[in-house]
This record gives sequence, structure tokens and C-alpha cells, in this order.
Amino acid sequence: MIDGTLFVVAAPSGAGKSTLVNALLEREPDISLSISHTTRPPRVGEQYGRHYFFVERVDFEAEIADGIFLEHAEVHGNLYGTSRTVVESKLCEGADVLLEIDWQGARQVRKGKPDCVSVFILPPSRVELERRLRGRGSDAPEVIERRLFNSREEIAHAHEFDYIIVNDRFEDALADLQAIVRAVRQRTPASARRHEALIEELLAP
Ligand code: 5GP
Repeated sequence: MIDGTLFVVAAPSGAGKSTLVNALLEREPDISLSISHTTRPPRVGEQYGRHYFFVERVDFEAEIADGIFLEHAEVHGNLYGTSRTVVESKLCEGADVLLEIDWQGARQVRKGKPDCVSVFILPPSRVELERRLRGRGSDAPEVIERRLFNSREEIAHAHEFDYIIVNDRFEDALADLQAIVRAVRQRTPASARRHEALIEELLAP
């Protein structure tokens, strides 16, 4: 069994990353989205285990000490992390896994799993980023200001990723993201393994 591919998607808050990723998962339902742990309080409508595993800071810190995270980072004043066992067992089963994480986490994942495929999503402009962040309506004004301020730091690391997509027209950005996933899936040796029977048949005398 060939391991699945680990996809890592990062973006500044407000670039439309979650909407893009959710639309990608509808088109490519075989990709498994990793649910992160976080110390951030839930937003209205967010559910434990569906959007995040919401945990207390002391518990999160104990989990760091136990080594349960593949990566973890402090983002906008809250801790976020990806469970190592969940991701690794899915990859071992041959499933593709997608992480929606920040640049610090992406850097850790790249170090531990250099075969991962990383994608950075940019907003089309600063004005549009600000408009999208304010339009979300689910965060307090000071939270929005902090996220706007922090977006510069996130964007400064865009060049570390394998791919950069600009989310201007949503459908185009989604097509770009899907194209990356589909191209990666046709790579050898995984694709050769999938098409072993076909190749044998075509080579038969
Ligand atoms: P939000 O609070 O808006 O859901 O997420 C804030 C930021 O934390 C986003 O950039 C998101 O990608 C990042 N994030 C979410 N989960 C994780 C995680 O497990 N690890 C890391 N490093 N960042 C995460």
C-alpha cells in the first residue's frame, strides 16, 4: 500500500481558505480533512469535533508535553495543533489528508514530512482582505484588527510553499486548487501502482 498524500493549505485570515477547502472536499470527497485542536473559544455555530476539538490551554499544553501533535503553533493568541496519530494512520491507509494550518505549522510539517504538498492562498488585494475580514461578522473588532495585523506575517512566508493561488474569482481559485490535487494524484509511483493492471495489459504480447 502506498501512503496517501499530505496536503497543507495556509493563508492569512480572510483569504477565503476554509470556503475554498470545503468546496474542494465536496469535489474530492476522498480527501480527509484533519480536525485540529485549539484553545480558541468556539464561534457561533462551530461544533466540537466537526470544526475543531476545543480544549483548555492547560490540557493543550499537557498534550504538547505528551508529544501528541504532528505540529502546533500559537496563532492570534491561541494554540492550535494537529494530532499525529490521526493523520499518520490515515496516510498509512493510503488516504489523502488535508491540513488547514498556519505557516509555522506548515514549516514543522515540511520538516517532518518532506513529501507533503503545500499550497498558500493569497487574497487579491489588501483592501479586499480587509473587506472580507470585516464582512465575516463573527469576530469582535479587536480580533479583526489583530488578524489584519498578523496577515502580513503570514503572507511573508508565502514563498515557502510549493504552490501559490490567488483567490480573486472563487471558481478560478477552486479550479486551481483542484488541479493541484489531481496532478499530484497522477504522480508516479502511486499512479503506476493504481494502473498496474492496465500497463500489464498494454504490454502483453
Ligand atoms: P481560525 O481561528 O480562524 O479558525 O484559525 C486561525 C488560524 O489558525 C488559521 O490560519 C488556521 O489555518 C490556523 N490553524 C487552524 N488549525 C491549525 C493547526 O492545527 N495548526 C496550526 N499551526 N494552525 C492552525
